[in-house]
Amino acid sequence: MSLQVREAGVMTGALVISLDFELHWGVRDKRSVASYRENLLGARRAVPAMLGMFRQFGIRATWAIVGLLLAESRREMLDRMPARRPRYRRADLSPYDAFGDVGENERDDPYHFASSLVRRIAARPEQEIATHTFSHYYCCEPGQTVDEFRADLEAACRVARRTIGRAPESIVFPRNQMTPAHLAVCRDVGLVAYRGNPDHWAYRAARRDVAQSPLRRALRLADVYVPLTGMHSAPTDGGVALPVDVPASRYLRPWSRALRALEPLRLRRITAELEAAAQRGRVFHLWWHPHDFGLHPRENLGFLRRVLACFARGRERAGMESLTMSDVARRRIGRAEERAACR
Ligand SMILES: [Zn+2]
Repeated sequence: MSLQVREAGVMTGALVISLDFELHWGVRDKRSVASYRENLLGARRAVPAMLGMFRQFGIRATWAIVGLLLAESRREMLDRMPARRPRYRRADLSPYDAFGDVGENERDDPYHFASSLVRRIAARPEQEIATHTFSHYYCCEPGQTVDEFRADLEAACRVARRTIGRAPESIVFPRNQMTPAHLAVCRDVGLVAYRGNPDHWAYRAARRDVAQSPLRRALRLADVYVPLTGMHSAPTDGGVALPVDVPASRYLRPWSRALRALEPLRLRRITAELEAAAQRGRVFHLWWHPHDFGLHPRENLGFLRRVLACFARGRERAGMESLTMSDVARRRIGRAEERAACR
């Protein structure tokens, strides 16, 4: 069905799912291991559960991994560090001065190491292993430079090649911070796709204090339940400047006991966007962190199952597809080459 639709020249819609897999490296400036232990251990259980559900629904997901998680030991972590490291004005953002807290290996410290889980994901050929930078790098934070970012990204590619045998093709920027200069570095190291931000000022890339202003946060929270910023999706075709922007449509916010009465609205907001993308032949890009499912796994996995069931209906009725970020980029590049060849 979907093939016939494509052959007729009509684009079918697609669901893209990306996961920012970081464990404590992604939250270390905000939370201690002790205060976040349950979420981090729960994230480790959520990964196989999500993989199982993805298999059941035929989902190709993009897993953006913090490179530090891929080290087998503390020794290897120290050996793989880039020589050039970010000199953020806010020194506590850099993980490199905090290695006193890191254990010897994954068994000893399941909060900072995860190579066994990444191997498990990488063993599934339909899942994409992307990068979330080596050190959970913040591109918009004052003090860092583009050369420091380049060193970080090269370290991320090296450790991925060594651990899973291939370099990443896609990137998800930590805290969704990016600039054109950082994107040029991504192109230089061979990345073809990145996750841009939804097209609304409340979601625009900015350093942490701006992105987390009370107004922006309140708007983003309310937007989870009611369509304040409009319906988000992206065209399947379009520009192919490398890396290709595969913009986020929506963050899958975790289940909350305090807001549980609003769960039907949260589900409706996502399924309405997904259905619209299926009907209009557009890309709906949903993202979250495995640690978001660390608490209340039953509720969070149950919610995900309802979202994926909606996708399955879209596949049945309108030929909607599940694609990784690099799938979307490669298709766009392929179409651009076809168009160029026809000229
Ligand atoms: Zn992150």
